[in-house]
Amino acid sequence: MALIVAKFGGTSVASPERIKNVARRLVRMRQDGHSVVAVVSAMGKTTDELMGLASAVSSQPPARELDRLLSTGEQVSMTLLAMALENLGYRALSFTGRQAGIETDSSHRQAKIIKVHNERIMEALEAGAIPVVAGFQGIDAAGDITTLGRGGSDTTAVAVAWGIGADVCEIYSDVDGVYTTDPRVAPRAQKLDQISYDDMLELSSAGSGVLQSRAVEFARKWNVVIHSRSAFSDAEGTYIKEDPDMEEAVITGIAHDTSEVKVTMRHLPDTSGVAAKVFSALASNMVNTDMIIQNISEDGYTDISFTCPGADLDRARETLDRIMPDLGGREYVVDESIAKVSLVGTGMKSSPGVAARAFTTLGENNINILAISTSPIRLSMVVDAAQAAQAVRCLHTAFGLDSDSVFVETQLSAEEIAAKMKKGR
Ligand code: ADP
Ligand code: ASP
Ligand code: MG
Repeated sequence: MALIVAKFGGTSVASPERIKNVARRLVRMRQDGHSVVAVVSAMGKTTDELMGLASAVSSQPPARELDRLLSTGEQVSMTLLAMALENLGYRALSFTGRQAGIETDSSHRQAKIIKVHNERIMEALEAGAIPVVAGFQGIDAAGDITTLGRGGSDTTAVAVAWGIGADVCEIYSDVDGVYTTDPRVAPRAQKLDQISYDDMLELSSAGSGVLQSRAVEFARKWNVVIHSRSAFSDAEGTYIKEDPDMEEAVITGIAHDTSEVKVTMRHLPDTSGVAAKVFSALASNMVNTDMIIQNISEDGYTDISFTCPGADLDRARETLDRIMPDLGGREYVVDESIAKVSLVGTGMKSSPGVAARAFTTLGENNINILAISTSPIRLSMVVDAAQAAQAVRCLHTAFGLDSDSVFVETQLSAEEIAAKMKKGR
């Protein structure tokens, strides 16, 4: 029988009723003879609400205090799930990140897991209890609470699975697996039976919210098999694992990301060293630039654009306000309503013509491309945010990914669906 880590996301534990469902599901696993460790996210929109509370009292909440606050969301759901399990007659023990031995570095809000001290979880399992671990949090060397970045409970689950040598890390959410694109955006998306770590990592990094990219990175490094599946049905989901026999599709999936912004610096002198000064200053102010475009120079002047996460925009503005006058640039303009649409596929590297077909498709649909970047297995295009969904759908059709059936929403309320669609904006 298997040793399973089962992670339940925010929507799956959003109400007492849903927590009771999760408890029943865990009990079924036990009745089937498996050993199981649960990892939970905060209930519903709790993390957003806690962030809101912090910004209501402070324009720049100290990172240490913010992490302390955010970690409480998962601590509520872990205790409620443990109570629900005990109520069904099963022994359960909840553990905070610290108690579960999740040791991280000290980079608050984006901490990396360094080690998993598995003793308490193993002891609980040996004692016949169901350990319930609070996701998204750990403890640094100074003993302070850290959090792992939004969506970080996925990473907790993979790390715990690795730390205890689990057979599989099951990630339960409100969709029954990884689709060729977000099925809420393109209802003709197809569910994948399996996907390689490389393809999944590229999709997650390009903004596909179904799994946190750090979790996939961790799983790839330590060969942890992930099974992404539905908290509301027993259907088989998608396996994320290495399989030498897996066919390399030209396009495995399409991701979109509305969380980035585009900044254009106008009329910069086109002389050596200018780009170096701009991007060094941005980097030292912790602005993560993504795509960079330099226009053809005219009369010794040029425009340079870059994209960066919306969360870094204030720091980008602060940097450019400081350096633009010295550099002799005229001004900079910010476009916050952009979206990055990315085609991903490990087979892309040996298949010419992907870019041509993508550009033609967007052109035929009157969607203007504002920036382009590529990697051997990804093609990303920035478009107007208002056209993002249309871009995803027409590319999905053009690359032959459409399924005959249509994705049907079964469990979520209209409000929950709206919140999902807004995520990352
Ligand atoms: P949880 O709260 O359980 O962690 P998330 O909201 O983080 O769940 O992830 C599930 C959501 O990811 C789905 O509701 C879906 O809208 C979105 N999603 C984005 N891209 C994909 C994809 N390629 N396949 C499946 N779901 C996707
Ligand atoms: N609760 C955290 C978040 O909303 C972590 C998670 O859900 O994975 O980002
Ligand atoms: Mg998630």
